[in-house]
Amino acid sequence: MASETETFAFQAEINQLLSLIINTFYSNKEIFLRELISNSSDALDKIRFESLTDKSKLDAQPELFIHIIPDKATNTLTLIDSGIGMTKSDLVNNLGTIARSGTKEFMEALAAGADVSMIGQFGVGFYSAYLVAERVVVTTKHNDDEQYVWESQAGGSFTVTRDAGEPLGRGTKITLYLKDDQLDYLEERRLKDLVKKHSEFISYPISLWTEKTTEKEISDDEDEDEKKDTEEGKVEEIDEEKEEKEKKKKKIKEVSHEWSLINKQKPIWMRKPEEITKEEYAAFYKGLTNDWEEHLAVKHFSVEGQLEFKAVLFVPKRAPFDLFDTRKKLNNIKLYVRRVFIMDNCEELIPEWLSFVKGIVDSEDLPLNISRETLQQNKILKVIRKNLVKKCIELFFEIAENKEDYNKFYEAFSKNLKLGINEDSANRSKIAELLRYHSTKSGDELTSLKDYVTRMKEGQSDIYYITGESKKAVENSPFLERLKKKGLEVLFMVDAIDEYAIGQLKEFEGKKLVSATKEGLKIDDSEEEKKRKEELKEKFEGLCKVIKEVLGDRVEKVIVSDRVVDSPCCLVTGEYGWTANMERIMKAQALRDSSMGGYMSSKKTMEINPENAIMEELRKRADADKNDKSVKDLVMLLFETSLLTSGFSLEDPNTFGTRIHRMLKLGLSIDEDEPAEADDTDMPALDDDAGESKMEEVD
Ligand code: ADP
Repeated sequence: MASETETFAFQAEINQLLSLIINTFYSNKEIFLRELISNSSDALDKIRFESLTDKSKLDAQPELFIHIIPDKATNTLTLIDSGIGMTKSDLVNNLGTIARSGTKEFMEALAAGADVSMIGQFGVGFYSAYLVAERVVVTTKHNDDEQYVWESQAGGSFTVTRDAGEPLGRGTKITLYLKDDQLDYLEERRLKDLVKKHSEFISYPISLWTEKTTEKEISDDEDEDEKKDTEEGKVEEIDEEKEEKEKKKKKIKEVSHEWSLINKQKPIWMRKPEEITKEEYAAFYKGLTNDWEEHLAVKHFSVEGQLEFKAVLFVPKRAPFDLFDTRKKLNNIKLYVRRVFIMDNCEELIPEWLSFVKGIVDSEDLPLNISRETLQQNKILKVIRKNLVKKCIELFFEIAENKEDYNKFYEAFSKNLKLGINEDSANRSKIAELLRYHSTKSGDELTSLKDYVTRMKEGQSDIYYITGESKKAVENSPFLERLKKKGLEVLFMVDAIDEYAIGQLKEFEGKKLVSATKEGLKIDDSEEEKKRKEELKEKFEGLCKVIKEVLGDRVEKVIVSDRVVDSPCCLVTGEYGWTANMERIMKAQALRDSSMGGYMSSKKTMEINPENAIMEELRKRADADKNDKSVKDLVMLLFETSLLTSGFSLEDPNTFGTRIHRMLKLGLSIDEDEPAEADDTDMPALDDDAGESKMEEVD
């Protein structure tokens, strides 16, 4: 039956990727082999999994293997696996017409200087074949379809043809027509080394088609028969001189071929941890994850007793490019049952906050034919999960013993820890010990809550923190003035997720976590100080009322402050409402339910500083005349300024600008009517004194 060849165009991004792979010089081409072997291993995993519930799926080819065949006669390198294979539509979609989300990301990473060896992480590993090959032919047979051949020399298109060639039974054969300068990959030694380096822990046998030369003495009459027998090999006559002398006997070199197994097969997790080297773990990790870097930390353990399982867990050195991609709600733990791979991304195995941990779990107790549906109710899995979380936390504490490593870890995964605080109430206080923050006393270093506690001043009962957009934005905040003056340390929480995490955490080692920007900040004072404050409160009561009248609904109330020392005032939020930072975060979430804003959005309290000269002057004016026009104008300006210094945004920046301009004119003694061309961008900063002097002139 004549079969038709169909031609397809590569999807645009894939095409771009291919030209990048072909036309850019990368020294690290050898990784192509790892990528192809890893694809084969995935394909084998898939068919083995299917066969657990339906044995007949293996009928067409009962053995599970990976074969590598170098052929110097044709300059081809061929990989054959007896995996699941691809149907015709798989071929068309997977190898050419449907771009993975990682295609573009990978190209961007390459442009930014990433190494080509990272390709596997981006889910486009197959195309690395073109690092070494000018032409690639993929022959494949899936149980549900006929055998097809895919072929391409890149260059924009590929073809797919029904294959009438030698049947594979089931699986995929990839033949690489090597570029002239890549013939090195036909050398046995090289291939063996590469498999050892990159694919040693693949859990299927990888065999290399190797050449074997043996010397044999034969008599003349045997010679002819022998030549016929060795079909595969060449027979070389090597000892012609001797032959002359010794007519009857002669030595020949006989070349034969055989499969040679080149990967160790005992799974690493079945071995004793103390017998495994760091390099072996690294090799296993790289094979498991496609990471090009070694792992940061590893934990290899077994649990025995009521239930039995072994696990190897790794923490990578970096976060993957799509760590918080919500389209990809997966984890990275592979589940095995008694050495048989069951599935990737078993959701029940590990909570979301630990999605960055990679590794394997091999259970002795689960049934082999476990399905995704029955996983959910499975009690064994629940116990395994609990243990994995515990071990992960232990592992993080181990990393924390080395400061440099922990900084790396924290930079990459602190968001996950905070997510853990949010989600995992059982381990919350333990995870809290892993948190690190900058603080008013930590300088460039990060500090733990534990260390903070050891530095607490005598009589200090709370842990103070401030939330905001960045360290820079919070470190000079007016909210911190008094705390700083009293020598009380304040933690800077500048991650959006801190707001959520701290909302859950509430306390650490019995010490309440108190926001410096919310109501209810109590700073312990001496009796003397308390008395002085009481007096000031009384003195400023009138002004507070006046300000509240001017501001109306903009603020909930106006009180005399305990926390500001230098600034004239600040705006604090209710203890249980949103902080300014939270308001900012929520506003930035375009799709949030707008009905929530109403009651959650910050109820602001204006706190005024009775010891500030501006406030003192305001008080005098307000006491003299409650309806003083200048008081009203200044109160508005103070309110708007403190919205900004307290981390809120202005609802009406134009009115604020106009007010500032009016002040500028006053400061510069320019008449209101005079046509002035003040340049907004060159606005000089107003310090307290300048503000005060201008105030005298407000009328
Ligand atoms: P990834 O393997 O990361 O998904 P690749 O570009 O390496 O990305 O492969 C694309 C897809 O092609 C795979 O997801 C798989 O569906 C299919 N594929 C590749 N190699 C094989 C193989 N040897 N056997 C079966 N399917 C394969």
